[in-house]
Amino acid sequence: MQYDVVVLGAGPVGENVADRARAAGLRTAVVESELVGGECSYWACMPSKALLRPAIAQAEARKLPGLSESVRGPLDAAAVLARRDDFTSHWKDDGQVGWIDGIGADIYRGHGRLDGSRRVVVKGPDGTEQVLTARHAVAVCTGTRAVVPDLPGVAGAKPWTSREATSSQHVPGRLVVVGGGVVGVEMATAWQALGSQVTLLIRGGGLLPKMEPFAGELVAGALTEAGATIRYGVSVASVERDGGTGPVTVVLDGGERVEADEILFATGRAPRSEDIGLESVGLRPGSWLTVDDSCLVEGSDWLYAVGDVNHRALLTHQGKYQARIAGAAIAARAAGVPLLETDRWGAHAATADHAAVPQVVFTDPEVASVGLTLAEAEAAGHRVRAVDYEIGSVAGASLYGDDYTGRARMIVDLDREILRGVTFAGPGVGEMLHSATIAVVGEVPIDRLWHAVPAYPTISEIWLRLLETYRH
Ligand SMILES: Cc1cc2nc3c(=O)[nH]c(=O)nc-3n(C[C@H](O)[C@H](O)[C@H](O)COP(=O)(O)OP(=O)(O)OC[C@H]3O[C@@H](n4cnc5c(N)ncnc54)[C@H](O)[C@@H]3O)c2cc1C
Repeated sequence: MQYDVVVLGAGPVGENVADRARAAGLRTAVVESELVGGECSYWACMPSKALLRPAIAQAEARKLPGLSESVRGPLDAAAVLARRDDFTSHWKDDGQVGWIDGIGADIYRGHGRLDGSRRVVVKGPDGTEQVLTARHAVAVCTGTRAVVPDLPGVAGAKPWTSREATSSQHVPGRLVVVGGGVVGVEMATAWQALGSQVTLLIRGGGLLPKMEPFAGELVAGALTEAGATIRYGVSVASVERDGGTGPVTVVLDGGERVEADEILFATGRAPRSEDIGLESVGLRPGSWLTVDDSCLVEGSDWLYAVGDVNHRALLTHQGKYQARIAGAAIAARAAGVPLLETDRWGAHAATADHAAVPQVVFTDPEVASVGLTLAEAEAAGHRVRAVDYEIGSVAGASLYGDDYTGRARMIVDLDREILRGVTFAGPGVGEMLHSATIAVVGEVPIDRLWHAVPAYPTISEIWLRLLETYRH
């Protein structure tokens, strides 16, 4: 079957590439081996946030006199899990299949792999193979999978990955979480609130190591207060579980043993590119695919890699941004129109990937960041100053609840007087992030930011305090 564009993988990113290609009138096929909607809808963003929202709301309510006494009891775990199940449509993709139908793309169910230039072979659930050819482009949007370290006993111990941690139908009594990155701290927060006794095992010295250090410190404080145990500077040497059932014993380097009911490895992601025929087009199976700003794979004029699989920013919103750009670039190249490689609306260059990626960690407290941390800005050679302010000192934050604990930091580029990055950590800061993203992406001069007056009494008045602190 011949198409203009073949999209491999129907996660949020593949869906958006297909949408843009169809909007440009290109005949488009989408190949999906599991569920249309991808990791994000069924085992990542949506179920994890559905588990976390009650935990965060409860933690916030407990800091508000007049309300706190009414929310002393535990969460209704069964109701939280049931609501989470609704958010994943009970792991059925009919709704998203309907959406793909609606845009006029064809869906092929099965495992797709490249078979030389512009050819994709799809092996269906019944073993039959279909060949799809692409006149203009193949877009690889196959995402990532969890990495589980190859330690003695791990395979037999049936550990949780992010999939089980977001889809479990029971609350383990004791849960060991290995890894202090975003997935580790979010899942530790959720399951501790749902009733598990969580032990977090961290190899390094802090949580959220890619963010400003105060973010991880605040999250660690709240997790500990919630009853979780955090162990720093420890590594797992092996895991034991008799016959794959019963308690699991985690053996640490040095021989100490920690017993639990489940163990979650939140130890990173690998590209789902090991079995997609990369060798047939001269690329290494299992590798992250390196692309230019239009998401075209290096050295190719037809193969695109969009979203997690290109390793630029492993986030749904950033992958969808790339998808809009890649889809438009595919359409422009198909029409023989020159690409707009500027920062203009509708351009064909994913420039935000380099310096302005926003991210929210949905923990208690929330962490919201965009752009560079102080360490990253200095490493990049910018002459910068970090400006810090305690968010709890802002009137809006004091109204939010008693003992509001949170901090904000902006990284000012001293040569250009613009912001290179902003990090907020504190209750409710996720919804403030977009103001920072606009300031960073728009390279808004500090002098102009002064005239963006935050409403009183909101937490956004932190902007005023940061600017005053910078000027004085
Ligand atoms: C626990 C967790 C929580 C997260 N929370 C957030 C969050 O709150 N916000 C956020 O922005 N990001 C979050 N992320 C990251 C987010 O899930 C990813 O960035 C996003 O899913 C990437 O989208 P994608 O389309 O590139 O890949 P995926 O969502 O992984 O989709 C890839 C699709 O390709 C299919 N596929 C793979 N190989 C083949 C093949 N050979 N043939 C056919 N189909 C194939 C897969 O079945 C899948 O459906 C989270 C991740 C995890 C693990």
